Amino acid sequence: MSLRPILIHPDPRLKAVADAVPEIDDSIRRLADDMLETMYDAPGIGLAAPQVGVGKRLLVMDCIKEEGEAPRPMVLVNPEVTWSSDETNVYEEGCLSIPEQYADVERPSEVDVSWIDLDGKTRSERFDGLWATCVQHEIDHLNGKLFIDYLKPLKRQMITRKMQKLKRERARA
Ligand SMILES: [Zn+2]
Repeated sequence: MSLRPILIHPDPRLKAVADAVPEIDDSIRRLADDMLETMYDAPGIGLAAPQVGVGKRLLVMDCIKEEGEAPRPMVLVNPEVTWSSDETNVYEEGCLSIPEQYADVERPSEVDVSWIDLDGKTRSERFDGLWATCVQHEIDHLNGKLFIDYLKPLKRQMITRKMQKLKRERARA
């Protein structure tokens, strides 16, 4: 396993629609392992393949936050939301590709998602709470969408300028 560098917004690879994974092979399993390691190291609760520069429909997440509770690493290949609740939730979201910026985003509070697991089996589950927010945020990444796209243009531009500055500083360092 190895850590992969996380792309920082703005980057055209974060705006692209990712391709479906045609089959689960060793390269996909390695990508999933690397992404989980990268996510836990960050630390974060979710990471989508485009964030490490891979334009494939694969995401990892683990929203267990309670100290002492067993981790629940999940790998979702070709995930699709098949149902969303009318009821919504507002969470203050952040993103590993937009470090240290947070904003309230309203999303359906529950979603049904189906996906392929690393054994090639079709799975589905209903997510609620933080898991529902996280899985929707990560699936957005597969469609080239970021949480700041839900914000008013002025706020979005402000965050984008901060990220451009951060990238210039990192490039110089
Ligand atoms: Zn994100």
